Amino acid sequence: MSSLANFRNLATKIVCVGRNYKDHALELGNAIPKKPMLFVKTVNSFIVEGEPIVAPPGCQNLHQEVELGVVIGKKASKISKSNAMDYIGGYTVALDMTARDFQDEAKKAGAPWYLAKSFDGSCPVGGFIPSSDLQNPHDVELFCKINGKDQQRCRTDVMIFDIPTLLEYTTQFFTLEVGDVVLTGTPAGVTKIKSGDVIEFGITGKIESKFLVK
Ligand code: MG
Repeated sequence: MSSLANFRNLATKIVCVGRNYKDHALELGNAIPKKPMLFVKTVNSFIVEGEPIVAPPGCQNLHQEVELGVVIGKKASKISKSNAMDYIGGYTVALDMTARDFQDEAKKAGAPWYLAKSFDGSCPVGGFIPSSDLQNPHDVELFCKINGKDQQRCRTDVMIFDIPTLLEYTTQFFTLEVGDVVLTGTPAGVTKIKSGDVIEFGITGKIESKFLVK
């Protein structure tokens, strides 16, 4: 299981859940979803501490979204809620970086979000916590600070769809491979990121990472 600390090298995809916190859905004027809303980031999205966050060409409104990431520890296909937690190898915290202007344009056109969500470096990712060290992922606090000031801070117990529900739903459609990451959605507080910003994020008392915006 310890090799899962290298989940970035094992992952085949990053499955993302949109609008999984009510306050965030509302802050962007979106409806509360009745079933999980999924999209994907490809693995070129990953960056780690020491690598800068860079806006994609032409983006004028880059947003950060702090999210709890579930790292899959056992190949999962068509699993059920009741044993979904057995497939989790651990957790991480990531930023779902979003070119909000690209996304708004795509939403209006009914077009895919690929450019808005999956550009190089759009998934700055923190360290790995084995599931044995985090018994209840719905009982932690996510935080994101920009230039030392709180920007996002929320407990994970207010997710609309909890992790077993997300894994059951997701794996009806996609096989989750060892190392794949499921990003479980962002709480309220997304904002425009600018060059020179320092973004710190993590789980209070557990892990923290720091990234610079180029
Ligand atoms: Mg997100």
